[in-house]
Amino acid sequence: MQSISQRVQNLAQSQTLAMSQKSNELKAQGIDVINLSVGEPDFPTPAHIKAAAEKAIEDNFSFYSPVPGYMSLRKAIAAKLTRENGLSFAPEQIVVGNGAKQALCNVILATVNPGDEVIIPTPAWVSYVEMVKLAEGKNVLVPAGIEQDFKITAAQLKEAITPRTRALLLCSPSNPTGSVYTKAELQSLVDVLAQYPDILVIADEIYEHINYTGGEFTSMASFPELEGRVVVINGVSKAYAMTGWRIGYCAAPVEIAKAVTKLQGQYTSGASSIAQKAAEAAYDGPQECVEEMRKAFMRRRDLVVRLAREIPGFKVAEPKGAFYLFPEVSGLLGKTFRGRTINTSGDLAMYLLEEAHVATVDGAAFCAPGYIRFSYATSDENLVEAMRRIREALS
Ligand code: PMP
Ligand code: GLU
Repeated sequence: MQSISQRVQNLAQSQTLAMSQKSNELKAQGIDVINLSVGEPDFPTPAHIKAAAEKAIEDNFSFYSPVPGYMSLRKAIAAKLTRENGLSFAPEQIVVGNGAKQALCNVILATVNPGDEVIIPTPAWVSYVEMVKLAEGKNVLVPAGIEQDFKITAAQLKEAITPRTRALLLCSPSNPTGSVYTKAELQSLVDVLAQYPDILVIADEIYEHINYTGGEFTSMASFPELEGRVVVINGVSKAYAMTGWRIGYCAAPVEIAKAVTKLQGQYTSGASSIAQKAAEAAYDGPQECVEEMRKAFMRRRDLVVRLAREIPGFKVAEPKGAFYLFPEVSGLLGKTFRGRTINTSGDLAMYLLEEAHVATVDGAAFCAPGYIRFSYATSDENLVEAMRRIREALS
């Protein structure tokens, strides 16, 4: 038996990926599982992006790419940040990695020392706390439940800050809740942060385009009070239906971009050359596909909210962005269905998988026990059937 490092032993398995894997295993056994666990657009990558990848292969983009990404891609990202967000990042401040996941982990490893505190509003995406653990930082969780639409207040932020606070990690539109901070709400957080100039803000804006508020999206990097201390995390996975291509980036103060490049140069090098050329086409090409997918997600949001509200025991807030529903299910805990007693949201997720054949994710994976997460990035037909099965299993 080989011994495994304490670092990896301390790490939890990604529950989003684990539930998806479990659902695939049941499918392989011939069970008709509807997988609402992992969150990814169900659309194929748009044709003009795929064509750019084919051309990249033809044109022999088959060599190592520069560690921070091709200059042409970093220019396309810088132009996107200006065009869509009014931001001025130089290409030298942008580092492309294997998805927003690596970009974020790079930034955390490059900026957090052992014992440094990172403030994370919860519910929070599964990987945040594990990445901070990897950096030996301390997670400072700030809970915001359904009663406050899953958004922390300025007072909560202020109370969480200590002299050891290194960073705030904010995700809006949020995975797993779908909440979107308004510009005024962000401003109230910024007003607090303005008093603490050493705190870095890491803004995960990967769901930027999947936003149903009708308003403009406000990037955390657009507040002048935070100049020089916001790192934007984003990528092509969600906006362009490119999860498997693995391209994401950080846009950061130049010292952080250099540190991230050094780190990435030692353990993964530049991201896939072909995928980078595809991502360049995504940013430089026509943008109608983004709006078409957003509209489809919004329609499904309306459908799934309506159906989920008919399920006894589910308390459902209307998500304003991303493609997740995060019902509060504490009303079901302690009850017995088909001879099985549901004591936790984890029991409920398991029961729904095994009895209703619908894969979801336990809220506990997002530091929010008492909730479960559904991804509604799937067909209307799947959504209707999944909600029907759940209602039946819980009646
Ligand atoms: N941040 C959040 C909030 C996410 O939901 C995801 C997708 N799982 C990521 C980052 C990472 O996305 P990717 O690595 O595919 O770019
Ligand atoms: N965004 C997805 C999710 O949360 C991807 C899976 C992952 O990387 O965790 O389900």
